[in-house]
Amino acid sequence: MTQTTTATATDTILRQIRDELLNRRSFLLTSHARPDGDSIGSQLALAFTLDALGKQVRIVNADAAPEHYLDFPGLDRIEIASSVPADLAADAVIVMECSDLSRTGVAGLDGRYIINIDHHAGNRMYGALNWFDESAAACGEMVFDLIRALRVPLSPDIATHIYLAILTDTGSFHHSNITPRTFDICRQTVEAGVNPAAMARRVFDSNSFGKLKLIGALLDAMELIDQGRLAVLYLDDSMLELCGCTHNDTEGVINLPLTAREIQAVVFFKVSADGLVRVSMRSKYDVDVRLVANGFGGGGHKNAAGFTVNGPLEQVRPAIVERLVRAIGEGLQTRPEP
Ligand code: AMP
Ligand code: MN
Repeated sequence: MTQTTTATATDTILRQIRDELLNRRSFLLTSHARPDGDSIGSQLALAFTLDALGKQVRIVNADAAPEHYLDFPGLDRIEIASSVPADLAADAVIVMECSDLSRTGVAGLDGRYIINIDHHAGNRMYGALNWFDESAAACGEMVFDLIRALRVPLSPDIATHIYLAILTDTGSFHHSNITPRTFDICRQTVEAGVNPAAMARRVFDSNSFGKLKLIGALLDAMELIDQGRLAVLYLDDSMLELCGCTHNDTEGVINLPLTAREIQAVVFFKVSADGLVRVSMRSKYDVDVRLVANGFGGGGHKNAAGFTVNGPLEQVRPAIVERLVRAIGEGLQTRPEP
């Protein structure tokens, strides 16, 4: 069952988390493997906030951030490890953006005092404190509330990471979960020194030439299904090699087909050498790809979701495509007026 915390319940959990952060001394922050802008931004905004309170903070992630995030403030603080470093003692672990602990890709978190902050439907409530708000457009919106509750001023570094989280997790203000609150928070980050034009350029216009080549190759091989309403993209390691790219270079590519008016949903199959198929999906308006992801053991949001399955691709593809075509049919019936 999904549940979104009511206003009063939010106040209560927010106060509880605030008190635990104030009372405890040392923290381990983590988020999901293959981090995105929301996981990076949420972790660093909170890390800078805890710094301001004189706390000890370490950040451990299973994977490095995509390259174009590396010159954002504090990125060098993130330790990359597949398990909690042996020398790391922390009074509390703050896990953000993860429906369950395994999403972190970091072993050794079980049994610790965990504060779980997330906005993905289907969160397993694995923490001692669980703050789950599906209505947040980004986990960064929740972190913003926490920062306000802690009465830490928005420094330029904190504001930058909150804005990064929101800018990326809304798909640069395309997704359907954006509210007046989203803009209110962004306004406050801009007042704190964020330059939206510079942020958009840094986040979205920092491709390598190799990535441009990869985009060309992926779009060239794109398949259109369901009278052009569903776009299918394929990637394997040989395409990456040919373009001199890594998996990080695929970030954002999935959104490109949606720029075509007819296309309502995109599915991106990333086949790795070990036989696993990573499936990413994006959609417009009320086409709900999270429901599709749920059916295959994954999760996400209405307009952005994913899951991983065992290949081979030819075997798993038909059921996924069929389910997506159904989701498109259902979503189009409730499409809002512009
Ligand atoms: P991606 O396509 O990897 O950018 O993911 C889009 C959304 O789906 C994000 O909110 C992810 O957290 C979610 N997601 C992707 N893969 C999985 C998975 N295996 N399990 C749960 N959620 C996922
Ligand atoms: Mn998120």
